[in-house]
Amino acid sequence: MVAYWLGNPPADPDTPGPEGGPTCKADSQYVNESTTGLQPDVAKAWEAAVATAKRAGITLCLNDGKRSRAQQLAQFAQYEEQYGKDVAEQLVLPPDRSAHVLGVAVDAQPQAGWQWLQQTKGSLGFCRRYDNEGWHFEYAPQFKTAGCPERLPKPVG
Ligand SMILES: [Zn+2]
Repeated sequence: MVAYWLGNPPADPDTPGPEGGPTCKADSQYVNESTTGLQPDVAKAWEAAVATAKRAGITLCLNDGKRSRAQQLAQFAQYEEQYGKDVAEQLVLPPDRSAHVLGVAVDAQPQAGWQWLQQTKGSLGFCRRYDNEGWHFEYAPQFKTAGCPERLPKPVG
């Protein structure tokens, strides 16, 4: 759960995000979704991060952003079928604990992009949250001044 979120109210958990998007120009195994459904401050901060990255010669793609509760459950079911329940539980949070459902999380790709974003150390409002998910960032306005909170090993456990 995003206990540190002190911004405006998060997005409606039942508003879906895009189901995919155009191919990421920097790496065709990823997509670049629209920011549709993200909490408005987060969408704005993401667009600013993309522009800042571009000036540094880095392409940032939004491989996944907003999910509804239903989309989060569907993703869990897909991972469970593919990898089994234990692995699914390491990678996909239940809907009531996912920052994607609240519209305050982004999965950045490709690796050069998320490594660049990580090096901004929260100055753009985005912080990497988990050791095992380099691409997963969450937004909070106070990260810009306070920096990033300590990283957690993985989404659950
Ligand atoms: Zn994520």
